[in-house]
Amino acid sequence: LSERLESAWKKLRGQDKITESNIQEALKEVRRALLEADVNLMVVKDFIKEVGVQAQGSQVVSGVKPGQQFIKIVHDELVKVMGESNVPLAEAQQPPTIVLMAGLQGTGKTTASAKLALHLQKENRSSLLVATDVYRPAAIDQLMTLGKQINVPVFELGKDADPVEIARQGIEYGKAQGIDTIIIDTAGRLQIDQNMMAELAQIKETVQPHETLLVVDAMTGQEAATLTQTFNDRIGITGAILTKMDGDSRGGAALSIRRVSGAPIKFVGVGEKVEALQPFYPERMASRILGMGDILTLVEKAEEEFDIADAEKMQEKILEAKFDFTDFLKQTRLMKNMGSLGGLVKLIPGMNKISQEQLDAGESQLKRSEAMINSMTIEERKNPELLSNSPSRRKRVAKGAGYAEKDVMRLVSDFQRMRSLMQQMGRGQFPGMGMPGMG
Ligand code: GDP
Ligand code: MG
Repeated sequence: LSERLESAWKKLRGQDKITESNIQEALKEVRRALLEADVNLMVVKDFIKEVGVQAQGSQVVSGVKPGQQFIKIVHDELVKVMGESNVPLAEAQQPPTIVLMAGLQGTGKTTASAKLALHLQKENRSSLLVATDVYRPAAIDQLMTLGKQINVPVFELGKDADPVEIARQGIEYGKAQGIDTIIIDTAGRLQIDQNMMAELAQIKETVQPHETLLVVDAMTGQEAATLTQTFNDRIGITGAILTKMDGDSRGGAALSIRRVSGAPIKFVGVGEKVEALQPFYPERMASRILGMGDILTLVEKAEEEFDIADAEKMQEKILEAKFDFTDFLKQTRLMKNMGSLGGLVKLIPGMNKISQEQLDAGESQLKRSEAMINSMTIEERKNPELLSNSPSRRKRVAKGAGYAEKDVMRLVSDFQRMRSLMQQMGRGQFPGMGMPGMG
């Protein structure tokens, strides 16, 4: 038992470190989750390798397995990679701000252009939509309709005009009108196409945008990486909009886009309606990509509850024989906060052989102990010897807690025995949550 207890104590104290071997399972799980979320395979490989190396030697918090801790590290790293916090749309020092929309056909460029205009309207910024997609028959009409819907002007020169020329004149018009932001909607092809790229590059050269947003359909999956790479190499992007996130996609494209281009995702499209645009929140996206919400919650809870500094203070106290009933109560509450004793113990490898009866007994013993400690005076909590030397004090405590005097007697002697045992074990072997009634 002592070996088992020792390893359990080590876990509880959070002495475990992440090693290559104790996160093998978790590595596989993370890999699977990222692939299922449609993160590009190469991106997954690189990302996991990086995080894996980085996580080596990290401290594992008490109540948590190394693999679970690793998953939390992956999640935090995902958030970090995707940009910690939301990056707003660029704003020119001297208006107008010029935004160029880029992307394949059907990804949602036209819709996103209108969505963006509406978003700006809510911030009291005026905008102008410029229709340069002269290839798709109804493209200009589509933008006009959307513009009307949100009361934003649309600049167009018909379907026979040259897209570069439309863009150039659109900017002039917008400037003359004192518009705050000019959004240039462009044509896309079903596949990356040299002509399309050349035209887009030319428009960019002409309008010198402050922001070039790549619009990516979240359902693009694996391909999002290559796509981003091509657009970024050829055109240069400053940000992205991930559309159709109202669908089933877990949004792995967000990670691919960021890793490949370094550009932040700025908005997320969540529906066909013009209102369906949200700022991009890395935290939310990371949780969606990784899934595994239960594990993340568990680790976060444990991290919150278990303060390593606190544990070290406790250890000092034990070594100086100052560990008292107040500290004991604190430890007990800490355990309670982390869920039932049973739930906690099951998380500890090697502890699962403890029977349910033993657990129940331990738990009810803890409750009794707590009740009795609550009936002690501060002095008695600090100095258990007061109780071992005074039957009248024991009677008072017993009465207050609704137990017999012999129960108090037993608690005190258990506590004293535990304390001297802990002292014998010495530094480095602090049983983070050792307690009477559990032996
Ligand atoms: P474009 O070819 O890139 O300009 O794409 P469109 O803006 O014309 O959009 C193509 C289709 O996708 C349209 O039917 C849009 O209504 C739809 N769409 C665009 N964004 C979203 C979105 O965020 N969610 C959903 N569900 N549909 C979207
Ligand atoms: Mg379009």
